[in-house]
Amino acid sequence: MSTSRTVRYACPYCGKDFEADIYDMINVEEDPDLRDRCVSGDLFRVSCPHCKKDFMNQFPLVYIDKPNRFVLWLSKEAPNSSLLQISKPLSEIGYTLRRCPTLQEFVEKIEILEDGVNDVLVELAKYDCFIEFIDNEKGVPEDVTSIEYQHTNNGVMKINVRADDKGMSFHVPIDMVEEEMEQNPELYEVDNEHFPVINGDWIISLFQETDGYA
Ligand SMILES: [Zn+2]
Repeated sequence: MSTSRTVRYACPYCGKDFEADIYDMINVEEDPDLRDRCVSGDLFRVSCPHCKKDFMNQFPLVYIDKPNRFVLWLSKEAPNSSLLQISKPLSEIGYTLRRCPTLQEFVEKIEILEDGVNDVLVELAKYDCFIEFIDNEKGVPEDVTSIEYQHTNNGVMKINVRADDKGMSFHVPIDMVEEEMEQNPELYEVDNEHFPVINGDWIISLFQETDGYA
């Protein structure tokens, strides 16, 4: 069951108040159209009925995908106690639980987990692509605007490194990254039960901590 509620907005353009519905929880098995509206960003677009201007509003959302066994918590805040109450049983039956601080990360996470790929592995692959991009002197770190997971076909991930005026696509075999992870499995362990944030900052923090002990 998906649940929504009505909230009051003050339009950032004309300043007038109006009401609109936002979702607290989405069950994509029952409401597949809401999944599409998440991925397109449409669900978070608010239209002012007075001046007709659109703006984006990211609200806290629980996103449940039963067929693909994952639950996402879209929020800049840690999950509340009611969400943590269900996290242990869900984790025990194999659900992946993640927190996504931004909409961009949220949409990418949906695509990764729908593809059935380990998102820890994806973040390591993205990091490797970033290093390769720099090592090949395609640009300096400051040029890179984003590193994006695209899709997985026949065990090969496509990852795009975007830079201001140039970018690069990488095709990364999953088994190659798996081998890299097996060399240091403890490093990549995550606390699934507590909705960890698995993103670019997280993977960088792993290597910074390792450097600290070296
Ligand atoms: Zn307005």
